Amino acid sequence: MKICFASQNINKTKEVNQLLGDQFDILNLHDLNYLEDIPETESTLEGNSKLKARFSFDKFGLPSFADDSGLEVEALDGAPGVYSARYAGGERSDLANMQKLLKNLAGETSRAAQFKTVITLTWKNGEEQFTGIVKGKIISEMRGKDGFGYDPIFVPDGYDCTFAEMSREEKNKISHRAIAVKKLVDFLKQNEIDKA
Ligand code: IMP
Repeated sequence: MKICFASQNINKTKEVNQLLGDQFDILNLHDLNYLEDIPETESTLEGNSKLKARFSFDKFGLPSFADDSGLEVEALDGAPGVYSARYAGGERSDLANMQKLLKNLAGETSRAAQFKTVITLTWKNGEEQFTGIVKGKIISEMRGKDGFGYDPIFVPDGYDCTFAEMSREEKNKISHRAIAVKKLVDFLKQNEIDKA
């Protein structure tokens, strides 16, 4: 069965493909010759993932799913959240985003945070959302060279190393994205959505 993943990201597509196996044929926006980013104009991760999945379903007429992720810091009332990619404004800069976050947390003893991914799957007769969360804390200096985004300042619960100090395989076993993708995969394997 063909399913559209409303994303340009090749690495994310590979990850989902590996988990789904041969039963499903995942086409991302690039495969469908759609080379623009779908605008993310909602104010929540749930809203943005739903908007992107619906856009893709309406445009391509295929069952579609989309993801949106962010970092939520307890002491900052859940910021940067849905604005994680552009927290420091202007050009997307991981370094500037982390510097702004560390500045806003200076002197703060409560460092609890979580990464969250919301995936929305939309098909002809239905819609379903899948959430993945990984809890941890924000440390006060950057550590590690791998990963992206806020990985160098995030230590997941039960670990001493940051996401950026883990191998990709290790991070993919416990990440918010992996948890949400796993839930999507289980749902697709258990439900015949094209016949719904
Ligand atoms: P996206 O929705 O997956 O593109 O994520 C939006 C933004 O959230 C990214 O640009 C990062 O700033 C942040 N983010 C999401 N997932 C991660 C992660 O696994 N590690 C670090 N930062 C992340």
